[in-house]
Amino acid sequence: MNDQVPIRATGRCLCGGVTFSIVGPLRSTVTACHCNTCRRFTGGLWAGTVARREHVRIAGDSLKWYQSSAEARRAFCGNCGSSLFWDGQRLPFLSIAAGALDPPTGLRLACHGWTSEAADYWSFDAGLPLRPGPSGLGPPE
Ligand SMILES: [Zn+2]
Ligand SMILES: [Zn+2]
Repeated sequence: MNDQVPIRATGRCLCGGVTFSIVGPLRSTVTACHCNTCRRFTGGLWAGTVARREHVRIAGDSLKWYQSSAEARRAFCGNCGSSLFWDGQRLPFLSIAAGALDPPTGLRLACHGWTSEAADYWSFDAGLPLRPGPSGLGPPE
């Protein structure tokens, strides 16, 4: 245990059962993945950044891993269900759910990936209204 390592970022799942810290460089960009697997895993899309695997320190008994393909596994909290990590087993880094990081992250969204598999309701129209609070949408018609 080396308490002298600077912590670049911290994060947690919704219930707090899983916490993590990044003790090395964290990519400054977030990519949004719209592939079928990310869509089902998250119920939306995967917005992730990356850090080298050895720089990610994870704590918490509720972390579960799911082998989502021959090459990759994904982690989530078995208590609250938060999507947390993607681990491409031939790559030296983990993708980290940007939304699980404690703000401010200092990161920026760089691109949307796998748009060919994006859900048919998704819109990439930057002209859509942006609302800082409730959507204001009413009940079902
Ligand atoms: Zn949790
Ligand atoms: Zn994906």
